[in-house]
Amino acid sequence: MTKKCTIRKVLAREVFDSRGVPTLEVDVVTDNGYGRNAAPFGAPGSRGEYEASAYGSVGISGAMNVVLSEIAPRLVGMDASELATCDETISEIDGTTNFSRIGGNVSSAVSIAIARAAADSLRVPLYRFLASGMDSFSLPFPLGNIIGGGAHATGPTPDMQEHLVLPVSAKSLKEAVSLNIMVHSEAGKLLAKRDANFCGGSDDERSWAADLNDREAFEVLAEACDIVAKETGAKLRLGLDLAADRIWDVRAKQYLYAREGKGRSTDEQIDYMESLVRDFSLYYIKDAFNSNDYLAFAELRKRVGRSCFVCGDDLLATNVKRTREAVKQSSVNSMIIKVNQIGTVTDARKTNDFAQSQGIRTIISHRSGETEDDTIAHIGVAWNCAMIKTGVLGGERLAKLNELIRIEEYLRENAKLADISLEVK
Ligand code: PEP
Ligand code: MG
Repeated sequence: MTKKCTIRKVLAREVFDSRGVPTLEVDVVTDNGYGRNAAPFGAPGSRGEYEASAYGSVGISGAMNVVLSEIAPRLVGMDASELATCDETISEIDGTTNFSRIGGNVSSAVSIAIARAAADSLRVPLYRFLASGMDSFSLPFPLGNIIGGGAHATGPTPDMQEHLVLPVSAKSLKEAVSLNIMVHSEAGKLLAKRDANFCGGSDDERSWAADLNDREAFEVLAEACDIVAKETGAKLRLGLDLAADRIWDVRAKQYLYAREGKGRSTDEQIDYMESLVRDFSLYYIKDAFNSNDYLAFAELRKRVGRSCFVCGDDLLATNVKRTREAVKQSSVNSMIIKVNQIGTVTDARKTNDFAQSQGIRTIISHRSGETEDDTIAHIGVAWNCAMIKTGVLGGERLAKLNELIRIEEYLRENAKLADISLEVK
């Protein structure tokens, strides 16, 4: 055992996430260092049906007690650098197959804090510890959320949750981040020009919350991208996160678009998505269908997947079994990775690696309720993720992006932006 990584203390406290909601923070102290993580939280209506419950049957009020009275006594004395063994112990303590007792936020906060403590104790950057022996790295491309709606915004906003930008021509992480910020800024100016009532409101992820329907949101975003492209010569592509579970009416078997006052059957939804990909040259489309419909994803992938990332998030919930099914049905060519959806760093890593072994590009992601923690920046580098999905502004989002800028500076020519080309450009 590497003695310096021996866990001596596990502490827990309640802090607040970016929505002001209480969340769990965990500290792991070893002989030679410490690690901390505060759990992020998805929005009701945007959290996936198949992800681990955030606080399980103990609830947020019982979370601290679970850490202090059940997890800490078992972890003290264990080796933080043996993360898989520690994660197994957390699973054992939970005693269910999906963290339905202690919750995915409790297990992931402890698991990430252990990883961070190990890296700190060994005096290596977190991405190096998480990469376990890998020596060449790429930096995940930042996918920026510009115009929000759905479960992340209130008032008359788009039905679709996120209208996104991807600065595909960027040559460095820092350039990509700054292009996304420019698009966000230009979109804000356009929104103010077109609507005297627009007061600069934003949603949970600091993307603009404006009185727009989905098509208008794409039009504003496309115009903002054109302005930035003219000014900088950069090439920018649009993306969409529909978070379709929220608008799926299981009884009517329709996707309900409140702003249009219109429902769409699954076939109509597939056609509609295809038309949006065509009309706005979308390069990324996530959760276009409800999270039980592997076949609809597969049909969209068949139609547009050679030139567009067809991405599953709620469909797969970072779960290796669900990912296996998606591979069998050819549903997606890309997927989201969120540690608290599955519960531990080890399990998220398994899903990430399995997906990549099957040719599926992985995208590490924030949650809408975030904390200042920057672990996803390190995971994106360590696990060879093609992209990182975050908001563009806000301290809790920039914490991740600024950490990537630091990693880029540190690695210099040893890390390039990930290759995000598809078969046909
Ligand atoms: C998402 O749906 O991709 C997202 C980040 O939001 P939430 O965390 O609310 O699921
Ligand atoms: Mg969601």
